[in-house]
Amino acid sequence: MDSPRKPKLAVMKFASCDGCQLSLLDCEEELLAVAGAVDIANFPEASRAVVRGPYDLTLVEGSITTPHDAERIHAIRRNSKTLITIGACATSGGIQALRNFQNVQDFIPLVYARPEYIETLNKSTAIADHVPVDFQLRGCPINKEQLLEVLAAFLNGRKPLTPPHSVCLECKGRGAVCVMVASATLCLGPVTQAGCGALCPAYARGCYGCFGPMEAPNTVALSGRWTQLGASEAHLVRAFRSFNAGAEAFRKESEAHER
Ligand code: SF4
Ligand code: SF4
Repeated sequence: MDSPRKPKLAVMKFASCDGCQLSLLDCEEELLAVAGAVDIANFPEASRAVVRGPYDLTLVEGSITTPHDAERIHAIRRNSKTLITIGACATSGGIQALRNFQNVQDFIPLVYARPEYIETLNKSTAIADHVPVDFQLRGCPINKEQLLEVLAAFLNGRKPLTPPHSVCLECKGRGAVCVMVASATLCLGPVTQAGCGALCPAYARGCYGCFGPMEAPNTVALSGRWTQLGASEAHLVRAFRSFNAGAEAFRKESEAHER
């Protein structure tokens, strides 16, 4: 008797640094189990062999920054039963969404010798701004254990279990000293979604917000505390404008401190 067909997996890239795709390759031992459970049909970062779609699951890394991207994502959505976005670029526009606060046309002649060949959009936007998305996995880069959880959930037909709470819970869970309390170091942990294991606070640094806003973040209260600790308005703008500058809660908080 024929064994059942394995689900076909595709991994697609838009504007990004490839770091989130590398998190999948970084799974090493678990990657063999993944390869046994799914047919890795289209993953240019890993192999030149391509099996045509439609795909059962497509992981999408990167943000939409060009007119061609904006068309291609619709074709990918039509060709995918389930579409999951991975990483800050795909879920909030990434660091390249800093362009959203300026006029990108002003930068092009400064960077490119022949600006007439550059076709770009004014904004870098998340995949979900263009097509329906079944699940969004946050992080810059994503956490590989969370990625494996997403894949296991897909294979078992259930919702992935990723924490909606803040980095502070992870920080206390690993017994790290609170850098904001102990040394007045500015930390975005109270408004940032867990996922990194509170890596920066564990090394006595403030959180940089790599995993984007947690569920219902109180950014106003955190900005107030930062101000008490001496942060300027410009400092607050910069803090909320990094890897997840385009995420709504962080975008709004940065705009509230812009002069
Ligand atoms: S989210 Fe970060 S690690 Fe992932 S592709 Fe974008 S820049 Fe790279
Ligand atoms: S160091 Fe940052 S993440 Fe850790 S408990 Fe303090 S505020 Fe929260």
